Amino acid sequence: MADTHQNPHAIMIPYPLQGHVIPSVHLAVKLASNGFTITFINTQWIHHQISKASGAEDIFAEARKSGHDIRYATVSDGLPLGFDRSLNHDQYAESLLHVFSAHVDEAVGEIVKASATPVTCLIADTFYVWTSTIAKKYKLLNMSFWTEPALVLTLYYHLDLLRKNGHFASSDNRDDTIDYIPGVPAIEPTDLMSYLQASNITTVVHRIIYKVFADVKKADFILCNTVQELEPETISALHQKQPTYAIGPIFPANFTKSTVATSMWSELDCIRWLDTKPKGSVLYVSFGSYAHTNKHDIVEIAHGLLLSEMNFVWVLRPDIVSSVDTDFLPVGFEDQVKDRGLIVPWCHQIGVISHPATGGFLTHGGWNSILESVWCSVPLICFPLLTDQFTNRKLVVDDWKIGINLCDRRVVTRDKVVTKIKILMVGKASDELRNEIKKVRKLLENALARDGSSEKNFNQFIRDVKVKIQTR
Ligand code: UDP
Repeated sequence: MADTHQNPHAIMIPYPLQGHVIPSVHLAVKLASNGFTITFINTQWIHHQISKASGAEDIFAEARKSGHDIRYATVSDGLPLGFDRSLNHDQYAESLLHVFSAHVDEAVGEIVKASATPVTCLIADTFYVWTSTIAKKYKLLNMSFWTEPALVLTLYYHLDLLRKNGHFASSDNRDDTIDYIPGVPAIEPTDLMSYLQASNITTVVHRIIYKVFADVKKADFILCNTVQELEPETISALHQKQPTYAIGPIFPANFTKSTVATSMWSELDCIRWLDTKPKGSVLYVSFGSYAHTNKHDIVEIAHGLLLSEMNFVWVLRPDIVSSVDTDFLPVGFEDQVKDRGLIVPWCHQIGVISHPATGGFLTHGGWNSILESVWCSVPLICFPLLTDQFTNRKLVVDDWKIGINLCDRRVVTRDKVVTKIKILMVGKASDELRNEIKKVRKLLENALARDGSSEKNFNQFIRDVKVKIQTR
C-alpha cells in the first residue's frame, strides 16, 4: 500500500470539448484508483450538457462508490450556458484565451484554500494557455495532458523549426518533405495539422497555439494518450526535452461501460438495430463532436452510401454543416435508405464499433475514434476535416496501414465514396487492413498489460510525481 501521506492531490481541468473531456475523465479515474485525490473541474457548459444528456448531477458519484477520492467542481468558461459555441467557435476560443483563466484562478485558489488534503498538482489539458501561471501561483506541479498523438505534439513543439525552415509562416511556404523535426524521420507539409497549413495564421486558434506550445515547455510532466510502441522515436525525442509518458490508450476499465457519464448529447440506441444485421456488414460513419463539413460533402456521402448498398449507422450531428443550416440531406434520402441504414444525431460510439455487426468506420480521424476503432479491430476510411485529423490520417493510412483515404484531398464524389466503402468492407484489401489492425490492436493490448509500456510508464510517472513533491 502506498503511504497516504505522500498521495498527491491533483486538480484536473480538461479542455471543454467532447474529445478532450472523455480521456480526461478516464485518466482521473485511473489516477484515483492509484491513490491520487482528484478534484475534477468541468466548465459549467460541459457539465450542463453531460447532466442534461445523462441525468447525472455529480458524474463521479458512481466511481466514488468504489472508494475513489474524486471531487467534482464546475467553473464558468466566461460565456452564458445558452451561447451557441458550435456556431460561434471563434468567440468561444477568444473566451478560453482571454477570460477563462480568471475563472480558473479563482476556482483553484478556493480549492487550494479550502481543501483539507493539500493540493499538490495541476493536470491541465495542453491546449490551455494559462497552466504554468496558475501552477506557479499556487505552487503546484505543472502537468500537461496531451490527448492527441505524440507526432502532433512534437510538430507544434517545434513550430520554431518549421518557421525557420520556411514550412510555416513564410509568404510562400516550402512544399518539400520535412525531415528536421526531432523524432520525425519525414513528413509531408500536406500532413501537417490544418492550422499549420492555413494561409491566415493570425486567427484566434493560432494565437492560442503560439502561447500553448511555449507554455508546455514549462511543464514538469507531459502525459500522452498514445502508446510508446506506436510512436517510439517521437516519444523518445520528446522525452529528451521534458519528462513525457505515453500512457494510452486511456479507456474506461470496462471498455464498453464507463462508470462516469461523459457524453454531451443523448445517445440514441443503435444496438437493437445492429443486432438484426449480419456480422461485419455495417459501416459506421461519424465525423466526431466538433468538426463541420459542407452540404456538398454530406450529399455526396449520402448518395455514396445509398449506391454502395452497404448497411450503415450514420451519426449526423444537427450542426454538422452549421447549427443554422440543419437541412442538408438529399430529399427523400431516409425513405430510400429504408432498413439498410440508421441515421442518428449522436450515439454511444464505443457500443457501436464494438458490436460484431460493425465492420468498418468512415471517420474524420479524431484521435479517440482511431484508438477506439483499433481496440475493436475495425478498419477505417479517413476523411480529415480539421486540426490534427490530417496528421492522424498519415499515421493510420501511410504508417500503420489500417485504413484508406476517402478522397485524397480531392473533392468528395459519390463514386469515390462507393469505391472506398467497397474496398474497406469486402475483398482482399479489406482482409489485409483487418490483419494489420489486429496487429496494432495487439500492440495496444500489450501496452496495457501489467508489464506493458503504458502501464510501466504510468507507474513511473506516479513514482516521479511523488519524488518531485517530496523534493520541492
Ligand atoms: N462519440 C460518441 N458518440 C458519437 C460520436 C462520437 O460517443 O456519436 C465519442 C467518440 O467515441 C470519441 C469522441 O466522442 O470518444 C470524439 O473524439 P474524437 O477524438 O474521435 O473526435 P473529436 O470529436 O474530438 O473531433
